[in-house]
Amino acid sequence: MTIIKFMAVKTRKFKVDINKMWCKGCEICVAFCPKNVLAMENGKAKVINPDACTGCLLCEIYCPDFALKVIKLKDAENK
Ligand code: SF4
Ligand code: SF4
Repeated sequence: MTIIKFMAVKTRKFKVDINKMWCKGCEICVAFCPKNVLAMENGKAKVINPDACTGCLLCEIYCPDFALKVIKLKDAENK
């Protein structure tokens, strides 16, 4: 279990930061994400599948409230 978790974290290339204060819950990011990285919870967007993010930026581009930021991770940040 520990090994599987370690491998998943090592392969993560992107981090999606959601500013919940700015998110108005429109679900546009959830609808556009081709990898089902995002979902809604209590009216706000949430990252549910971070390892699947390809960094395509669709969520960030289409969010009308600038509440999403996709960050490219360096190897050191994956540890
Ligand atoms: S597109 Fe932006 S405002 Fe809409 S749910 Fe996603 S993060 Fe929230
Ligand atoms: S960058 Fe692309 S794959 Fe990653 S969460 Fe946003 S829409 Fe989904």
